Amino acid sequence: MTVGNMESVELFDAGKKGRGLRATRELNTGEVVFAEPSFAAVVFDSLATQVCHSCFRHQANLHRCAQCKFAHYCDRTCQTACWDEHKQECGAIKKLGKAPSENVRLAARVLWRIHKDTGIASDSQLVSVDQLEDHMADLPEEDLKKLESDVHTFQGYWSYGRKQHAAEYISRIFGIIKCNGFTLSDQRGLQAVGVGLFPNLCLVNHNCWPNCTVILNHGNQSAVSSTLHSQRRIELRAMGMIPEGAELTVSYVDFLSVSADRQKKLKEHFHFECTCEHCSQHIKDDLMMATAEGKPSADKVKEVTAFSKERLEKIEKSRIERDYPEVVKLCRECLEKQENVLADTHLYKLRVLSIAGEVLSYLHHFSEAANHARRMVEGYTKLYHPNNAQLGMAIMRAGVTHWHAGQIEAGHGMICQAYRILMVTHGPNHAITRDLETMRRQTEIELKMFKQNEDEYHAMREAALKK
Ligand SMILES: [Zn+2]
Ligand SMILES: [Zn+2]
Ligand SMILES: [Zn+2]
Repeated sequence: MTVGNMESVELFDAGKKGRGLRATRELNTGEVVFAEPSFAAVVFDSLATQVCHSCFRHQANLHRCAQCKFAHYCDRTCQTACWDEHKQECGAIKKLGKAPSENVRLAARVLWRIHKDTGIASDSQLVSVDQLEDHMADLPEEDLKKLESDVHTFQGYWSYGRKQHAAEYISRIFGIIKCNGFTLSDQRGLQAVGVGLFPNLCLVNHNCWPNCTVILNHGNQSAVSSTLHSQRRIELRAMGMIPEGAELTVSYVDFLSVSADRQKKLKEHFHFECTCEHCSQHIKDDLMMATAEGKPSADKVKEVTAFSKERLEKIEKSRIERDYPEVVKLCRECLEKQENVLADTHLYKLRVLSIAGEVLSYLHHFSEAANHARRMVEGYTKLYHPNNAQLGMAIMRAGVTHWHAGQIEAGHGMICQAYRILMVTHGPNHAITRDLETMRRQTEIELKMFKQNEDEYHAMREAALKK
């Protein structure tokens, strides 16, 4: 699949949803429907010195742009690759004496690009950037005030010869970014590091149970010959077989909320009523609120639900404060309360299991962490689409925790399962899939050793842990 090839899709009128994209041929599971470089993208303010402004990898020891002292890069290759995008910005930052916020930086990058290439940067771009939705009319008073102040900052920052823009036009660009900006994550998929605008991706409508997933591929600049480098791009990948003519959809929100909550979030952030099948028929809402098998009384369920809700707020607070022993204590108490009252697919239980697993693993209490991670994955499996990227990542983490706990058989099984999902959602060349491949081979060797001689395996593990 070459970047920018849009032959597998076409624009169509999706009725109430406006424009949409549909498949022009049958698509296979895991196939890249299209790959698209960003029209413009920026690293978040808070990570400006830790993430490369060109490839968006999180790295130590980045080099600083000598001119503006703001942009940071892995090396010369990344800096050169990005100079065209940074040139105008570099001068503007120098002139202003400091870099403005990420919103303003992105709006300026969008406008510099529009001036350079018009709103259509290549033949494969299906719609001009300034024709995207801005939902200005739907913005609440508070957001409009914030926008006004951003526009003001923008005007002091922007320079392009004598070319100035009316405040209204600049506002529209901010509106477009606000409802179309796509969050970019680092190469391990662990942290949101920036935001970018991908015009073709903006045409893909939402469905809570979508047939596609979108992933950032950071590209590869490690080859000696620069002709073999590949650029940073998003990939829209098919989660299953998609018949010719079917509309392509992605989910703008995580599936793990009951339909009413997802609808509320979509209305607030994206300004539309979701009428997808899962929302209108409340599919899986029952599982997400399910009670344990022993049929606990309604009063008991009400009590434990209220307790969990309150407790989760405390847990989150302690986690932010990095008081991990407190997090563990609160989680244990909460899980005890939930036992025999809430089912393992209940959202409040899954939330506690997820945090407990993560924090215990961080504290090297691997056996208890593995136990929670396994229950969490079992719950997730009943709720998520089998090729959901979040599910794949959760199974990967659970697999690693089991491996660290010395439960090599379960660990290897989960790592293989995660690998199968990520081959679909991320593809074989993504950094995370490659990590998984390495872990898959390593755990396979250890599993063989374990099956031949358990004692020897544990002795080897003990020695490795001591190191
Ligand atoms: Zn880089
Ligand atoms: Zn610079
Ligand atoms: Zn929906």
